Amino acid sequence: MLRSHLSRYAIKVLFLFSLLGMHLAHAEEVVVYSARIEQLIKPMFDAFTQETGIKVKYTTDNEGALLARLEAEGKNTPADMLITADVGNLWAAARAGLLKPVKSEVLENNIPAHLQDPQNEWFGLSIRARTLVYNTKKVKPSELSTYEDLADPKWNKRLCLRTSKKVYNQSLVAMMIAEHGEAETEKIVRGWVANLATDPLSDDTRALEFVASGKCDVTLVNTYYYGRLMKKDPKLPLAIFWPNQNNGGVHVNISGAGVTRYSRNEQAAIKLLEFLSSEKAQNLFADVNMEYPANPRIAADPFVAAWGSFKQNPMNLAKAGELQTAAVKLMDRAGYR
Ligand code: FE
Repeated sequence: MLRSHLSRYAIKVLFLFSLLGMHLAHAEEVVVYSARIEQLIKPMFDAFTQETGIKVKYTTDNEGALLARLEAEGKNTPADMLITADVGNLWAAARAGLLKPVKSEVLENNIPAHLQDPQNEWFGLSIRARTLVYNTKKVKPSELSTYEDLADPKWNKRLCLRTSKKVYNQSLVAMMIAEHGEAETEKIVRGWVANLATDPLSDDTRALEFVASGKCDVTLVNTYYYGRLMKKDPKLPLAIFWPNQNNGGVHVNISGAGVTRYSRNEQAAIKLLEFLSSEKAQNLFADVNMEYPANPRIAADPFVAAWGSFKQNPMNLAKAGELQTAAVKLMDRAGYR
């Protein structure tokens, strides 16, 4: 009698210890350096902590500052994960030895091959489509066809472009080099420059405003900038056109993440990365910035989905990194400032 009472007591104690053990294991923490602003990441981190008990600490800054910091901190970095927009930045981080390969069936299953590093050092988490937007009073959609066609003289003094200094158009031109080769791409970019209605503009929103006010007829932007503007003023005479639907597809880019080379909480960081690719986080991750989920099993936000579906360029985005320097030099030669 006493013995069985004692062993029952022992079992209770063991049970309590195991609860405590679980609790300790869950007091893990992941430190994230993020070039995505707080409002674009916090909702997903909160959901992750709620599900796993793993805390997420984060620092946000621009990508240049975060990469410099990772590099300076080296082995002593507190960061476990880097989140940033544009594959050019992720590629540069991998190239600088700041990320480490992650083997994960969950990620392989959730993220299409062209949106992740062939060496598994970065993974796309949302898709940004860089497409054509035109003035509906001045252009018929039947006049539009491809990125390349914007070099045709029929667009003379009708095109607006964002500056070539921003990584977005560098990535686009890099992917065009991968597709057409340098000589052909340079011809196209020279054609664009010849068709400009105004000097290159500081950002996508400004390019859209120029099109809306009739200073030019067509431009090249990421769709979420169009979404932001149209939410503010749905009457603007702007519409999206999906180019290259019979050849190549729409140029897409990503926001994405990787685990840092010197992460001390690698397993927890991988869990967070997997969570961000999952159904639960994908809607949030894409919707908060009006982007498209990278996981093809998840539907886009209805406001975004209303812009229509499109075929995306299936070429691996690593090319945008590999050819970025070539793209920058090419744009410079072509007089694209
Ligand atoms: Fe942007």
